[in-house]
Amino acid sequence: MIKGTTRKRTYRAIYRLLDRVSPVPFDCGTICGSACCTAADYDDEVGILLLPGEEKIHDRHADWLDWSVLSTDEFEFPDSWHGNVYFVRCKTPPLCPRQLRPIQCRTFPLAPHITEDGELQLIYNDADLPYCCPMIEEETELDPRFIQATYTVWKHLIRDPLIYDLVEMDSQAREFEE
Ligand code: SF4
Ligand code: SF4
Repeated sequence: MIKGTTRKRTYRAIYRLLDRVSPVPFDCGTICGSACCTAADYDDEVGILLLPGEEKIHDRHADWLDWSVLSTDEFEFPDSWHGNVYFVRCKTPPLCPRQLRPIQCRTFPLAPHITEDGELQLIYNDADLPYCCPMIEEETELDPRFIQATYTVWKHLIRDPLIYDLVEMDSQAREFEE
């Protein structure tokens, strides 16, 4: 498994910080049938990439997640990523132990972007998704506390060189497409 520098206690602190915020002050799953969670029911490629070391705060025997291991050689990962990474899928979406949602779920619908000047920004997630997120489509105004907490989290996470490389790779791909 690839090893980043982000420690277990940092992931715990990040989860605690993000537990206190939500993108909007209501359950956005009610407007779309929890599209981002339930897409895994019909699309095998939908799942959640755990960040390097994020697996340390999860129980691989817990009954709500299916675990798979991806080789960084077979999929598009940064050149610095050598080895395997964990990819998880929920067994009963949209139901999950909320306090254990991975970071990918917690910071959606935003995504981190590093500009050419090296500045971290948050943007609406622009990945090619097999479902429509109304919040992304309509660029819904998000709770400033959620935005601030998400920014703080990504600012911290990109101190880990592997996570920086991942965010930078996606950012460069975006700039290239523009
Ligand atoms: S984040 Fe978007 S797709 Fe997911 S439940 Fe909320 S509105 Fe729906
Ligand atoms: S962990 Fe929870 S929020 Fe994330 S995809 Fe699974 S059901 Fe949805």
